Amino acid sequence: MDKVEIKIDGATLSLVRGDITDESTDAIVNAANSRLAGGGGVDGAIHRAGGPEIMKECRAIGGCPTGSAVITSGGRLKARHVIHAVGPVYRDGGHGEAELLAGAYKRSLELATENGLKSIAFPSISTGAYGYPVEDASRIALGTVMDFLKKHSGIKLVRFVLFSEKDFNAYRTALEELTSTAASR
Ligand code: ADP
Repeated sequence: MDKVEIKIDGATLSLVRGDITDESTDAIVNAANSRLAGGGGVDGAIHRAGGPEIMKECRAIGGCPTGSAVITSGGRLKARHVIHAVGPVYRDGGHGEAELLAGAYKRSLELATENGLKSIAFPSISTGAYGYPVEDASRIALGTVMDFLKKHSGIKLVRFVLFSEKDFNAYRTALEELTSTAASR
């Protein structure tokens, strides 16, 4: 089964397999680099599908620190906004990677809330070219989102759009672990 869904305080958290550029959520999140300069992976796919307007806005913003995020329009995408989140390059786990990864997710959710957005789709930030082990990254990603949804009420849908079966399975396992620990507390 390629879809998993849970409810958290009236909001939906779902995991699906797919291509994030097809999403029609209010915002899709890009796994950007700190210069907002464009690259391969999901970043390349988003700029290709969204057209040059998104890069024009990125150039005007200029950059974004690792562990944070900025927002632009969605250009020609179905999503009205792109939130460009900058995750860490994974070295050995001892260089603040976990905090920086959590920060990229948290700031994206804050930007969505500040802009009155109700739905947001995330890719698996940092687990491609940036080399973050997906088993660890998925726990941090889901834990940060679940924590945010418990504390804030604006966002009604958070969807993780996982490109590969391996990523999808890692996120599904992490979600099962996180929900079973929450239930047994
Ligand atoms: P990073 O540099 O943050 O690691 P990448 O783009 O290299 O970013 O990879 C992040 C994740 O995005 C990887 O799991 C990759 O498989 C995934 N990905 C690549 N293209 C897409 C897409 N079109 N939609 C969703 N996820 C994608």
